[in-house]
Amino acid sequence: MDIRKEIASAETIVVKVGTSTITHPTGKLNLMVIERLVRVLSDLRNQGKRIILVTSGAIGVGRAKMGISERPKSTREKQALAAIGQVSLMHIYSKLFNEYGQITSQVLLTKDVLDNGQRERNAINTLEMLFKYNSIPIVNENDTISTEQIEFGDNDTLSSIVATLIKADLLILLSDIDGLYNKDPRGNSDVRLIPEVYGITDEIVKMCGNTTSQAGTGGMKTKLEAARICLRAGIPMIIANGENPENINKALAGDKIGTIFVPNNKEVV
Ligand code: ADP
Repeated sequence: MDIRKEIASAETIVVKVGTSTITHPTGKLNLMVIERLVRVLSDLRNQGKRIILVTSGAIGVGRAKMGISERPKSTREKQALAAIGQVSLMHIYSKLFNEYGQITSQVLLTKDVLDNGQRERNAINTLEMLFKYNSIPIVNENDTISTEQIEFGDNDTLSSIVATLIKADLLILLSDIDGLYNKDPRGNSDVRLIPEVYGITDEIVKMCGNTTSQAGTGGMKTKLEAARICLRAGIPMIIANGENPENINKALAGDKIGTIFVPNNKEVV
């Protein structure tokens, strides 16, 4: 079956937004983008779809709140700023989702949730129950006890783990870039967007540069790691530009948007 048509009927969707998408270069929140994202997700929820939002940005928001212009160096500074920023971030999401009549919830996870059966079951039970309550869970890493996201921008991988936990039909990573290019667009001009990827081969991995956006941390590498986890679980994944959150609707309408990572048994017609 054509994967893009299948995506149109996705019922359970995980959407991850990167720091670069939801903050301005000043570090302050990009309210316009967040508002449009919240509206798009609320509308999908109104259609009966089960939505999980995985969001980065807590450190950026914490820095802006504290008026700290330089990037914090030590892990403990980052952790503390994340703790400060997380509250503001949740406040704004909760306020905006509330305007659209949605019930939000905060779920803080660590990537090792899969390594411990009890924890895994707890996470699944909570998320399932939140769906029953018609809530939109907003997930972030628990930065106080785990620093993967802080150090490696690993909400990408966390979002793919969440997608496997709840057997999602689709993971969408919204970034500051249109998708995976054959070379890092930063510093290269003759670049070409790769519309479909069928496996995380060495050739694909070599396409990633080491750079990240100004605010981001993971770059393309952690997005490919997320794709690897999704493909193993048979879940399609899309990287699209978050500047236009309506790209989510386009992807669900079957439009060719961003880069789609296609699981083994699927095809693109
Ligand atoms: P986010 O905050 O959305 O997670 P990141 O900064 O972590 O964003 O990752 C996106 C960045 O990855 C892009 O801005 C780009 O500079 C970098 N990148 C490296 N290699 C590639 C590639 N082959 N194609 C696209 N982007 C790439």
